[in-house]
Amino acid sequence: RPEYAFIGRSNVGKSSLINMLVSQPGLAKTSQRPGKTQLINHFLINESWYIVDLPGYGYARVSKTSREKWEKFIRNYLTKRENLQCVFVLIDSRLEPQQIDLEFCCWLGECGIPFALVYTKADKQSGPKTDQNVAKFNKALKQWFEELPSFFITSSEKKQGKEMVLGFIDEVNQDFVMPTFD
Ligand code: GDP
Repeated sequence: RPEYAFIGRSNVGKSSLINMLVSQPGLAKTSQRPGKTQLINHFLINESWYIVDLPGYGYARVSKTSREKWEKFIRNYLTKRENLQCVFVLIDSRLEPQQIDLEFCCWLGECGIPFALVYTKADKQSGPKTDQNVAKFNKALKQWFEELPSFFITSSEKKQGKEMVLGFIDEVNQDFVMPTFD
């Protein structure tokens, strides 16, 4: 079945977003404690596709060894999944482009892994401010990418952006062809 991975800096609002997308409270628990989602969680949606909840990156107080472990783990997962259709990279819409997010996007690009951007917490500031940060991020990405990825502006608090993200997934699912093994 097709898979869609969600990843981002710790506290970016990943659990809240997944909760909004699956609309089943309690399925992906939101946590105040950063770093709680440690392992990969799969959520089967409509018995036809998976949301894959990947552990967050960018923890402030994490040793080099555990960061390297994380990188190896994520790299293994992301580069080996044949059914992985798209990685949604979550970006806090309140922030100016962050180096760690840009680097992660570039790495996905280098690996040829399709990705889209999901800007979170859009309710926390004005629309124009969000648009400004989106434009800045796109501008930064333009240095590396000829074609900019799709992006979605969301607020889990106000339930905004859900249809856009799910509509995008539906469209990609229509083109999904089962990998053949011979
Ligand atoms: P995670 O660590 O990336 O899974 O982030 P969480 O989903 O646990 O959210 C981190 C914090 O941000 C929590 O306090 C959430 O209530 C808050 N949060 C998440 N999404 C939104 C949003 O869309 N709007 C607002 N205002 N707060 C949010």
